[in-house]
Parts: sequence; C-alpha cells; structure tokens
Amino acid sequence: MLKCTQAVEDANTMHTSKLGWWRRFSLFMHLLMCHHCRRYVRQLKMLLGAVKDMHGEASDEEVERVLKRLRESSGS
Ligand SMILES: [Zn+2]
Repeated sequence: MLKCTQAVEDANTMHTSKLGWWRRFSLFMHLLMCHHCRRYVRQLKMLLGAVKDMHGEASDEEVERVLKRLRESSGS
C-alpha cells in the first residue's frame, strides 16, 4: 500500500515522465481508497487542463509551477 506522500509524488511524476505499470497500478489502488489523494489528483488534472486550454500542451516548466503551487496550498 502506498503512503499518501508517495501517491502524490507518483501522481506528479505521471505528468512529467513515465511511471512503470506497477507504480501506476499502485497509484490507482491508492486513489480508489484514499479520497485525499483523489482530490489532489482531480485538482492537478483540472489545473493542467486549464493551462492546456490556454495554449496547447503545458510545458514541463508550467507543470512544475502548478505542482509547486499545489504543494504549497496543500501544506506539505
Ligand atoms: Zn492518499
């Protein structure tokens, strides 16, 4: 079972690089059971989607900036 910090880390990694199928599966299982992380991932997707709507694909730098803001707002 993943810890929340690990799940959040993996969720972030999914957007910037490739996770192995086992890590993705573990993350998926964690998200099924953990509504904190589900909410985090939902916010993440929403924010990244908003950036994408503005001007195509989000750059790695933009993704990083969004993630940083999310981490700050979630207080971890
Ligand atoms: Zn969690």
